[in-house]
Amino acid sequence: MDVHVDRHRCLGAGMCALTAPAVFDQDEDEGLVVLLDPSPAEDRRPAVRVAAGVCPAAAISLIEQGSSSASPEGGAEGRVVRGSSVRES
Ligand code: SF4
Repeated sequence: MDVHVDRHRCLGAGMCALTAPAVFDQDEDEGLVVLLDPSPAEDRRPAVRVAAGVCPAAAISLIEQGSSSASPEGGAEGRVVRGSSVRES
């Protein structure tokens, strides 16, 4: 799993840091997300998936690896790109 964050979208809500504190933090100046671990170990991944799902700004994207249909070249095929959904009010 590769984790990406978009600080331009981040609202500083802090849900990610509360949900997966080993992977996400917030900077002291603006409260925006800081990615601590872009390739979290297996035991951290469930919390990372929850964090991506609860982010109100859809600022967290996950690239899941390890599909049986992965290309022999190790390219982008076979990966599942997941991101949090955008919630509209
Ligand atoms: S949950 Fe989303 S909006 Fe809130 S700090 Fe984390 S990345 Fe930013």
